[in-house]
Formats: sequence, C-alpha cells, structure tokens
Amino acid sequence: SVLNHDLVVVGSGFFGLTIAERCASELGLRVLVLDRRSHLGGNAYSEKEPTTGVEVHKYGAHLFHTSNERVWEYVNRFTSFTDYKHRVFGKYQGQVYSLPMNLGLINQFFGKSHTPDEARELIKEQASEIATEDATNLEEKAISLIGRPLYEAFIKGYTAKQWQTDPTKLSADIITRLPVRYTFENRWFNDTHEGLPVDGYTAWLTKMADHPNIEVRLDTDFFDVKDELLGQVPVVYTGPIDEYFGNSEGRLSWRTVDLEESVEEVDDFQGTGVVNYNDQEVPFTRIIEFKHFHPERVKTHLPGKTVIVHEYSRFAEEGDEPYYPINTAEDREKLLKYRELAKKEPMVLFGGRLGTYKYLDMHMAIGSALSMYDNKLKPHFESGATLESGGVDE
Ligand code: FAD
Ligand code: UDP
Repeated sequence: SVLNHDLVVVGSGFFGLTIAERCASELGLRVLVLDRRSHLGGNAYSEKEPTTGVEVHKYGAHLFHTSNERVWEYVNRFTSFTDYKHRVFGKYQGQVYSLPMNLGLINQFFGKSHTPDEARELIKEQASEIATEDATNLEEKAISLIGRPLYEAFIKGYTAKQWQTDPTKLSADIITRLPVRYTFENRWFNDTHEGLPVDGYTAWLTKMADHPNIEVRLDTDFFDVKDELLGQVPVVYTGPIDEYFGNSEGRLSWRTVDLEESVEEVDDFQGTGVVNYNDQEVPFTRIIEFKHFHPERVKTHLPGKTVIVHEYSRFAEEGDEPYYPINTAEDREKLLKYRELAKKEPMVLFGGRLGTYKYLDMHMAIGSALSMYDNKLKPHFESGATLESGGVDE
C-alpha cells in the first residue's frame, strides 16, 4: 500500500528518477515511482534492436551534452560517457552539406572559396534586406541573420515540415539558436561536456532507480490510483499538466514525431548518425542511423545490416506522444491558468518537460529536478517546510 512510502513520483523519466534517487539516497525516504508505460526511463529509453544488436532510442535520437558542472558530476555517478561528438549533415537538391551553417557550407553552396572575412561580408550583404530588430516572424528573423538564399535552402522547407506551419506564422524566437560559424568547425553542440552513455540509456536510467528504498511500478497510470494517493504523502507529478486538471482550461498543443524504424540490408546506410532532409518535397525531416552513435561497439553490431529511422513531424492528436511544446499565444494563456490551479493543489509539485510544458534537454530536466530537491523537497522533509502552493517549477 502507498502508506509504506514517504513520497510518490509520477513518471520515471530523468526528472522523476533524479527526484527519487536524491530523496532515497540522501534523505533515506521510501519512494514509489509510477509510470504508465511498460518500461522506465521516459523518452530517453532505448533498447537493442534484437537482430542487429544496435541500440535504438525508442522516442527519437538522444544526445547528451551539458555545460552545467553539477549536472555533469551527478550523471557520472550512474554511467560513464563515450567521446562521441555530434555532427549533423543536411541534404539539399542532391548535395550533402555539413551543418550547422559554417564556412564549408557557404563555400560549397555558393561554389567558391571564401576567407572568413569574405564570407562575413557576403552574408552581411545578403542579410541586409531586413534589419533583425524589425523581424516579426521566423522567416524575417532568419533572412535578417543569414540572407534569403541560405534561408530558402536550409531553413524554409525544413521548418515548414517540422512545424507544419508557414514560417511567416511562426515566432521569431524559434530561430534565435541559428548560428553561422565563419570557421570550418562543424560540431553541433557548444557545451563543455558531451558524450553517450557507455552501456546505453536504459542501463543509466536503471542504475538511478537501483536503490532499496525505490520501488518502480510500471503499467500504472496515476489517474487510476490518484484517489488513494492524494493527500497521503507528497506527490511529484511529471505528466502533462493539462491532463492533471482534466483539460479544464483546454488542451496545450504539442508536436509529435512519427518514427518509422527499419532494418536495411547494408552495412552502412548514410555514413553518419543524422542527415537532415532540407528539401520541402521530401516528406520526412531526417534519417537517423543509430550504429554511428557508437563506433566503439562495431564488434557487437551484426555486419551487413543497419537500423535506420525516418522522422515525420506533425501536430499531436489525443493519444499521440507529446514531444515539442508548440507554445502559441493561446497555449501560454492556458498555461498561466494551469499554473494558478497548480498553486492551489496541496502537496503536489509539478516538474519535468510535460509538467511544465517546456522543451527541456536531458541535462536541463536533471538540473531542474536537483533544484526542486534542494529548494522544496529537502527543506520539507528535513525541517517541515510547507509544500502548500508548491506549484509549477518555472
Ligand atoms: P519524460 O522523459 O517524458 O518522462 C515522463 C514520464 O512520465 C513518462 O515515462 C510517462 O510515461 C510518465 N507519465 C506521464 N503521465 C503519467 C501518468 N498519468 N501516470 C504515470 N506515468 C505518467 N534531450 C537532450 O538532452 N538531447 C537530445 O538529443 C534530445 N533529443 C530529444 C528528441 C526528442 C524527439 C524528444 C521528444 C526529446 C529529446 N530530448 C533530448 C529531451 C529529453 O527527452 C527530455 O529532457 C527528457 O525526456 C525529460 O525527462 P522528463 O522526466 O521531464 O520527461
Ligand atoms: N532547423 C532548420 N534546418 C535544419 C535544422 C534546424 O531549419 O537543418 C530549424 C527548424 O526550425 C527546427 C529548429 O531549427 O525546428 C531546431 O532544430 P533542431 O535540429 O535543433 O531541433 P530538434 O533536434 O530539437 O528537433
């Protein structure tokens, strides 16, 4: 029975497991973790494709990176990391370019070599048609940063497919992270630490939950057991916030991704982990080839075969996995109302990607769980600080 536990965590993703691990290891609390899926780990869950031995991230490719020293130290308690460094290539009109936009891409695209200063001059001139401060939507913002030719080749089609929305109707801030590098550097992330878990994501996540005081109950939907639990012990809820309140203020909108996995009868399908398809006519956004994430495992991969996944992005309907918050003005209005409701929910704390309606990278979900532990749970359990109006982690 629940009365054998001091804390209930809804969701066994990185947020929920970080909370459970800290409360069990540091405070000696008995923690019950519920998940409605039949496996733990949330969206970072992965498993070996049985015929090839290749680790597949079942909810989309997950690349770990962080510049947060506390998070880096914490995650290294549960796994070590390979020295994988992520790189992304983009296909456009029959050519393959190295992303993000850099000197190599600019030279190849314009068919001519440029020094860094010449490339800067060129892009400045092409971007002069709109001033960045005047940009009112994603298209204008992108053109003001990189000019129309590069925008039309690498951003327009990809973004329209990814968001199923005309880029002139999308918010300009989606594209703030659109670097142009005037060097040949083509690493995708800029963080201090980067790598993939040596024994895979599931081994890492399982190790976090491996504590005598943590019980993980799978195939258990919180809403089916909620009446027995609420008011008994504190609850950390990492499911969708709108669902918690029965969608009383309306549903928050999300994008989902259809992941079409296949085994191909070839040793190497594309020579790298991720290739974006920037042409708008190609229906998928990118192809992932998982074996390239772990070149050090070559001996454990069946030769002559490979696992690939085509990604197709679309609006999430009821029953789909929510992946990326769309965050329209209407969504933000609803979210404010849900936050008010959350404040009035005694002994329930809302956290994680779904509980806060925020796109959080793994290191951000872990960092935010460590803060909730420090600022709310530890003071509550150690010295009785109130959890009334725990509210949403903002
Ligand atoms: P989740 O992992 O979503 O876990 C929530 C859990 O709660 C789920 O297991 C769910 O089943 C459970 N749950 C929900 N409602 C209930 C209920 N009512 N009852 C019981 N259980 C419930 N991050 C990176 O750092 N690098 C990447 O490359 C990267 N790539 C990504 C690619 C995609 C396609 C997506 C969607 C995300 C990616 N992320 C990446 C983000 C990463 O997945 C998140 O940071 C991480 O999942 C956040 O963990 P979480 O615990 O908040 O949520
Ligand atoms: N983007 C683009 N072309 C690319 C890659 C990214 O236009 O080749 C834009 C697109 O709008 C996308 C955003 O940049 O939604 C973020 O891309 P990223 O690959 O970081 O998204 P994620 O991996 O989270 O899907």
